[in-house]
Amino acid sequence: MRQNDSGFDTRLVHAGAHEDPLHSVVTPIYQTSTFGFANAQEGADCFAGKADGYIYTRLGNPTTRSLERCVADLEEGCDAVATSSGMGAVNTVYMALLDQGSHVVSTASVYGPSRGLMETHYSRFGVASTYVDTSDLSALEAAFRPETRLLYVESPSNPCMQVTDLEAAARIAHAHGALLVVDNTFASPFLQKPLRFGADVVLHSVTKFINGHADVVGGIVVAREPGILKRLRSMMIATGCNMDPHQAFLVHRGVKTLSLRIERAQLSALQIASWLEARPEVAWVRYIGLPSHPQHELARRQMSGFGSMIGFELVGGLEAGRRLMDRVELAVLAVSLGGVETLIEHPASMTHAGIPREEREKAGITDGLVRYSVGIENVEDLIRDLQQALAG
Ligand SMILES: *Cc1c(COP(=O)(O)O)cnc(C)c1O
Repeated sequence: MRQNDSGFDTRLVHAGAHEDPLHSVVTPIYQTSTFGFANAQEGADCFAGKADGYIYTRLGNPTTRSLERCVADLEEGCDAVATSSGMGAVNTVYMALLDQGSHVVSTASVYGPSRGLMETHYSRFGVASTYVDTSDLSALEAAFRPETRLLYVESPSNPCMQVTDLEAAARIAHAHGALLVVDNTFASPFLQKPLRFGADVVLHSVTKFINGHADVVGGIVVAREPGILKRLRSMMIATGCNMDPHQAFLVHRGVKTLSLRIERAQLSALQIASWLEARPEVAWVRYIGLPSHPQHELARRQMSGFGSMIGFELVGGLEAGRRLMDRVELAVLAVSLGGVETLIEHPASMTHAGIPREEREKAGITDGLVRYSVGIENVEDLIRDLQQALAG
């Protein structure tokens, strides 16, 4: 899908551009459910796959295709399938690549609903799953069974920022005849390109960094090979979780500034994480850009930057964390992440509340953990906000 050797920022702006007969600079919104055929033969040829052409928006739409081509290019995959939400992308991957009796090995601190979908629903159809700290390669390998079909890794993981060695994970998965799927939502293709390390499939909740403006929910799946992509697309079409053209237009607009947004936010994040680490009220900070992070060196090798997600716990634990969340004035108390606005949330009672406490703790999600997604505001204002909230 990559047209040329242009740099990443150039591709952010231009990849996937639609060739419009009126030369519109931006891909227009094709707000239509269906497309007319010139004649019956053309319609039959489109359905038979003998002719190119759009048929019906659930099957494909030019605005959505433009975004798919763009993200496939950024991730260096063969092509992509956009979905109505990040969970639509997760479900498309599960349903397309698993069978009855299959087994999945997954990151213990994976996005809560990705685990919930597997444990609550796929288990009803005979799919088994095991959750391990995938940053521990021997635990990862020990979890494999003869029927393991997928190794599903989130790295850095949510909300503890554990980093998994993707190259080793790919090697282990392939040695066991399984595919490696990476949820790259937290890193985005600007910071990490999992296909380069041997992953077979990469997925995103584009709701987060890729769109970046907290105004759209959406997902996307990128595959290394056309055979896998075909299975993913046919599942997306069958389950009807297509991305709407208007959604696709907004996400494509948002992605163009991905580098600028992350470069700015990660500069601030390093400053804020260092500031937090030095505060007496703070028990510990998890930010992959800090040398104190257990996988800092691995992150340095595998990623081109450290991103803008910080996890920390106050000395006063849960109560102190709650007080902080109630007292911040600039950071918005809300779930989600990766937008231009700084957000703060409490994983144990919000994003990860669906996971039993014992399992949560095993995944490093303590009751006092606070998650902070740094936006692009002035860093001095963010620090002042945290300072007044801690002092209060
Ligand atoms: C938000 C998120 C999802 C789910 O995406 P939605 O767009 O909310 O459906 C999946 N994985 C990760 C890591 C996420 O942060």
